[in-house]
Amino acid sequence: MLYSSSGEPQGLIFNIQEYTIHDGPGIRTELFFKGCPLSCIWCSNPEGIVASAQLGVYPDKCLSLEKCGYCLKGCPLQGDSPIKHDQDGVLSAVNMVQACKDCLKCADLCPSRAIKLWGKRYTVPELMKIILSYRNFYLKSGGGVTLSCGEVMLQWEFASLLLKECQKNSIHTCVESALHCPPEHMEAVYENTDLVITDIKHMDSGKHKQLTGVGNELILKNIRRTVELNKPLVIRTPVVADHNNDEENIRAIGAFLRDELGGRILQYQLLPYRKLGTEKYKTLGVPYPMGDFVPPERQVWEANIRELVDILRTEFGLPAVAGSNYKLPI
Ligand code: SF4
Ligand code: SF4
Repeated sequence: MLYSSSGEPQGLIFNIQEYTIHDGPGIRTELFFKGCPLSCIWCSNPEGIVASAQLGVYPDKCLSLEKCGYCLKGCPLQGDSPIKHDQDGVLSAVNMVQACKDCLKCADLCPSRAIKLWGKRYTVPELMKIILSYRNFYLKSGGGVTLSCGEVMLQWEFASLLLKECQKNSIHTCVESALHCPPEHMEAVYENTDLVITDIKHMDSGKHKQLTGVGNELILKNIRRTVELNKPLVIRTPVVADHNNDEENIRAIGAFLRDELGGRILQYQLLPYRKLGTEKYKTLGVPYPMGDFVPPERQVWEANIRELVDILRTEFGLPAVAGSNYKLPI
């Protein structure tokens, strides 16, 4: 776990979104934890994958060296600075791997946010102050707090402390996790979790590995355990054309949910892949793994998802829905 200089536990969070309505019931505050053991080829939050703070580069916001230049002036590496500008003096890159001290001063100093910091440390009281400021919205809407991707379980000790504090304040807690983690970390987090959201991306472990970088055995084991523990559970599949949207895969997931979990899930959501977050890859200097992918027309993927939902509802008797807009039965 991370600690502040005064010894207080800290979490590394890369985004805090207020008023979200898709990840759990009601109006929620969603906290995105930095660091993820998966590397899904369609990931729309690439700034959440690396488990340390990172800098995103937005050249179109740069005021130029001539008019500003605070980033270079403040960089302790001075002449060897990994901050690069083009021939017009406009920011082009910050190579954090090469010779950067990770002091993150350049992001602090940049007046136009052309260098953006992804990943900030917070203590539990700091986050609770933000969370509690929206308490009335949670009360009126039946909402609460959702801890979300990267991967909450990588920071399981901090997540447990935060969730405990939320529950102490009667705030509903939801954890969205890939569940690729040691079961004991998951169970520690569950002690203060009211709702769990997780994914099954592919039932074939080899294909799961091709798509996400890891096999699915540990994830499926943790899903079985989640049901054994009677945790309210929502399962999702991000449906990606030509990758996991075939009937064979969706039927295999349906069989797992019905036969191995006894259908004990609140909802099974099929989410269409929409090629989001591609710009963020550019700002991190990372190639987008699905750069060449052309998603099908809206009518085509809508029809595909409707068909799959029908199969899951009629043949498998599962509470399947298209998207994450349907009210949860809680
Ligand atoms: S993080 Fe620090 S060392 Fe790295 S480029 Fe920015 S100011 Fe320089
Ligand atoms: S501090 Fe920001 S705006 Fe100024 S030169 Fe550097 S990147 Fe550009």
